[in-house]
Amino acid sequence: MGNLTGSTGVRKSGARWSGPGIGGRIGGVRAAPYACAVPAPVTETRTGLVRRARKIDRVLGETYPDAKTELDFDDPFQLLVVTVLSAQTTDKRVNAVRPTLFAAYPDPKAMAAADRATLEGIVGPLGFFRAKTESLLKLSAALVTDHGGQVPARLEDLVKLPGVGRKTANVVLGNAFGIPGITVDTHFGRLARRFGWTEETDPVKVEHAVGALFEKRDWTLLSHHLIWHGRRVCHSQKPACGACTVAKWCPSYGEGPTDPEVAAKLVKTEGRA
Ligand code: SF4
Repeated sequence: MGNLTGSTGVRKSGARWSGPGIGGRIGGVRAAPYACAVPAPVTETRTGLVRRARKIDRVLGETYPDAKTELDFDDPFQLLVVTVLSAQTTDKRVNAVRPTLFAAYPDPKAMAAADRATLEGIVGPLGFFRAKTESLLKLSAALVTDHGGQVPARLEDLVKLPGVGRKTANVVLGNAFGIPGITVDTHFGRLARRFGWTEETDPVKVEHAVGALFEKRDWTLLSHHLIWHGRRVCHSQKPACGACTVAKWCPSYGEGPTDPEVAAKLVKTEGRA
């Protein structure tokens, strides 16, 4: 089945979709090969969009009941640091250096006073080690100087910290402080557009457009659901549509292989390794 959504992957008018799904599991991840029948598009009301978006989130929640951040951390400072370090590398690599890093520098004060060459050596396996070391030194110094050595729990304070953008701030708020936040990374933005939830490409606009479709309390888990699905099934290239549990509600069904056997081979059972 071809892509019915046009070049942006988003059907402008919105649509109603139907198609039988068959539940199953692939490598511990629930997957469902679909013989999906996508009817001709009809206008989707705002209420319909909200219902469909929430249905997709519910099904993704059932698909990934353990969805959470894939970065290891013990406290807000660790999560802030590992999130900054995760740029341009994998969570797995960051998790591997974490024990050494925080054994040497357990808090902002210790990290701010770190010997640059030693810190560069620890974060070296992550790539961009000079820039990352610089970020950690500046970030830790700002926490000590401006926040008494604590990680602030407000978005407006977090985004003023060196090297901390809105995405990182929302990760920290949602996962270390339990304050709902939407994390718009590359996966979240791509899936939100494929789902027809928004056509925006600017992350802040995506955050606001998608946030308006959901209860605030659901924002953090919603972020995990989309990111997990993007990493495992709905890849940038060749999404595994034939093994997708939310194919029934996705206007972009058909962007990737719909044959269940072909699609199953595309499913990754771990995050970005
Ligand atoms: S894998 Fe295919 S059907 Fe599933 S969400 Fe992505 S584009 Fe839609």
